[in-house]
Amino acid sequence: MHDQHSQTVHTTCPYCGVGCGVLASPGAGGTVTIQGDPQHPANYGRLCSKGAALGDTVDLDGRLLHPVVHGERAAWDTALETVAEGLRRVIAEHGPEAVAFYGSGQMLTEDYYVSNKLFKGFIGTPHVDTNSRLCMASTVVGHKRAFGADTVPGNYADLEQADLLVLAGSNLAWCHPVLYQRVKAAKADNPDMQVVVIDPRRTDTCEIADLHLPLAPGTDVWLWNGLLHHLARDGQVDYAFLEQHTEGFGQAIETAREGGSVPDVAAQCDLPEGDVMQFFRLFTRTEKTVSLFSQGVNQSSAGTDKVNAIINCHLLTGRIGRPGMGPFSITGQPNAMGGREVGGLANQLAAHMDFAPGDVDRVRRFWDAPNLVTGPGNKAVDLFQAVERGEIKAVWIMATNPAVSLPDADRMRAALADCELVVVSEAMAHTDTADVADVLLPALTWGEKDGTVTNSERRISRQRPFLPAPGEARADWWALSQVAQRLGFGAAFPYTAPHDIFDEHARLSAFENDGRRDFDITGLAGMDRAAYDAMTPRQWPVRADGADTPRLFDDGRYFTDSGRARFVAVEPRVPVNRPDPQFPVVLNTGRVRDHWHTMTRTGKAARLSAHAVEPFLQVHPDDAGVFGLEEGGLARVGSRWGHFVGRVVLDRGQRRGNVFVPMHWNAQYAARGRADAVVNPEVDPLSGEPEFKHTPVAIAPA
Ligand code: SF4
Repeated sequence: MHDQHSQTVHTTCPYCGVGCGVLASPGAGGTVTIQGDPQHPANYGRLCSKGAALGDTVDLDGRLLHPVVHGERAAWDTALETVAEGLRRVIAEHGPEAVAFYGSGQMLTEDYYVSNKLFKGFIGTPHVDTNSRLCMASTVVGHKRAFGADTVPGNYADLEQADLLVLAGSNLAWCHPVLYQRVKAAKADNPDMQVVVIDPRRTDTCEIADLHLPLAPGTDVWLWNGLLHHLARDGQVDYAFLEQHTEGFGQAIETAREGGSVPDVAAQCDLPEGDVMQFFRLFTRTEKTVSLFSQGVNQSSAGTDKVNAIINCHLLTGRIGRPGMGPFSITGQPNAMGGREVGGLANQLAAHMDFAPGDVDRVRRFWDAPNLVTGPGNKAVDLFQAVERGEIKAVWIMATNPAVSLPDADRMRAALADCELVVVSEAMAHTDTADVADVLLPALTWGEKDGTVTNSERRISRQRPFLPAPGEARADWWALSQVAQRLGFGAAFPYTAPHDIFDEHARLSAFENDGRRDFDITGLAGMDRAAYDAMTPRQWPVRADGADTPRLFDDGRYFTDSGRARFVAVEPRVPVNRPDPQFPVVLNTGRVRDHWHTMTRTGKAARLSAHAVEPFLQVHPDDAGVFGLEEGGLARVGSRWGHFVGRVVLDRGQRRGNVFVPMHWNAQYAARGRADAVVNPEVDPLSGEPEFKHTPVAIAPA
C-alpha cells in the first residue's frame, strides 16, 4: 500500500515479534527514510532503536547478488538444477528422509508455506523445522496442552489495561522495546499499576518494576506452583469458571501443594520469603493480571512445564479471555507465529493441523500430495545431530544462520561442513553457514520482499517491497517453486506472485473447517493482487464473516475435544546439566538492545553497533574477584561443549554464580565470540527447545 501522492510504503519491521508498522520512503541515492506507522495497532507510530535504524541497513554491502555453486558464480538455471539433481540423487540412494529443510522466523508466511508443502507434501520428508524451535516451541506445546491449540488468547491492549503485569523471563525493555514503551506509558497513566519482573538478572526492564524476583535459574515451576497452591488455599478460586470451562484442576493443585509452603518455595528459588509473599499477595488480590512470558521461560529443558505452570494460575482464577488479563506469550521473531500457522515446525502439518489421521487425510487431499508425511520429523537440534550422524545427507537452509545460533554451535558447524549437500538461501554473501554451503541462492531481504508476517497478538501484517530486487536475487518462494518443477511437482507449485500463495494458505485454513479449528482465515481467501496489496493488519481467526478476533476464549470455549481448558499437573525439574567444581558458574545467553540475531543486518548500522561494540561477559563484581577478572579485561568462558572470549563487564545486576553473554556475534565479527559454541545441547523433551539459559561453565582471564 502506497500513500497517495508519495512513494511512502506501509510495511512491517523485520526484527522482533512486536511486529511494528513502518513507513518507508525511498529517496535519492538509495536512501530510505523510516518512521513508525501511526496507523499500525502494534506500535501507533513508535519505533525502537533497531526499527528506527532500518534505513541504515538497506545498502548492498556484503550482499549475495548471484548464485554460487561449489564456490563459483553460477547462473540460476545451473544452481537450481544442481539443487534438484542433488536432492534426486539423495532420495534415490537413501530415501526422502535423508533430506531436510531448516527455515526461520525471518521468512515470510508465503515462503514458509511453499517450503513446507514441497518438503512434507511432495518430497515426503518430515524433517522440516525452523529456528523458531529455538525461540518459542515450548509455548506451542504449552498452549496445545492447555487450550487444545497453539493460540495466544489476548492482545497488546491487555498489557495496558492490566493492574498487575508479571514479566516472566522477559527483558522487555531490550527485546520487545515498543511494548515496553507502551507498558511504561500505561503505568505512568495508571499509578496503581504494579509490575513484577521474574528474572535471575536485574535488567533494564526492572526500571519499571515494583518488585523484582531474581530467582535461581530454572526454578520457575517451583514459584508458579507455589502461587497456584497459595491461590487455592486462600480461596482465590473461580469455582464457577473451573466447573464450567476447565478440567484437571484437582491433580494440578495436589501436585503444586507438594512443593510446600512459602518458605519452601522461597528456599528453592533462593528468594527472600517476604518477596515471594508480596508477589503471591499481589497476584491474589489483582483480578486484572497479565503474565507475559518469553525466552527466559521457553529456552529451558523444562520450558513447556513452565508455560503450563503460568497458565494454571490464570485458569484457577478465571483470569483469561477478558480485557486486561491472561497469560501472554511474546515471540522473539517477526514471523514465528506465521511459521507456526503454515506448519513450519516438524511436529505440525499445516494451518495448525498436526498428524491426527483426519488432518493428514485433509491436507493430502487439499494439496493432492501423494507423498505427504504421516508423522513428525526431527526438531532443530535433533535435525542437525542427524546431519552429523550422516542420516540426513542433504539440507536446505533458508534465512537463518544455524552454524552460529544452534547450541553446541562449533560441532553443528562441523557437521554441516561434512554434509553431502548444503543449500543456503541467503541475502548475505558470507555468514558462518553460507561459508559451508555447496549451493548459495541469492535471496531478497527486507525492503525487497513481498508477503505477510504475523506478530505476537495474532496480527497478520504485510511486508511490502519499496526497493528493486538487487542483482540476481529472487524471492524464496520462487526458488522453491523452481526446484519443485525440476523434481516433477510443477503442477502443484504454479505460483506467479505471493498473493497466489496467501490465497491457497487461506483456503487450506477453511478447507473442511467446521469453525472449531483455531487457525481459520477463511475471510481472507480470494484476494486478488490489488486487495492483497491494500490489505490492512488483520487479527486471526478471520472466519467466513470476515471479522477479526481480538480476543479468544471470551465465550469460555477452548479448542480441546471437551471444549474445556486443561490444567496440567507439572512436577518441578532442575536443569539437566548442573554446576560442579570444574564448571561452577551458570551461563545465560540472550540479546542486547541494538542487535538482532547474528548481526547480518544490524551489524551494518554504526549507530546500533555503538551500543555494544564487541562480545562481552556480564559478571557480578564479587564473582569477578573470585575468578581473577577485571573490568575491561578479556575473559574466557569454557564449557564441556566449547569456548568463548569476551570483554568483562562488571554488573551488580547479575546473580552471584551466574554470567550473561549475548548471542549475536558470529565469525564475521569475532571468531572467538560465538556464544552458542559454549551452550549445552540439552532440550525440553516435549518441545525440543534448547536450554540456552543454563549451561555450566568455567570463567578465567583470557
Ligand atoms: Fe521492530 Fe521490535 Fe523495535 Fe518494533 S519493537 S521497531 S518490531 S525491533
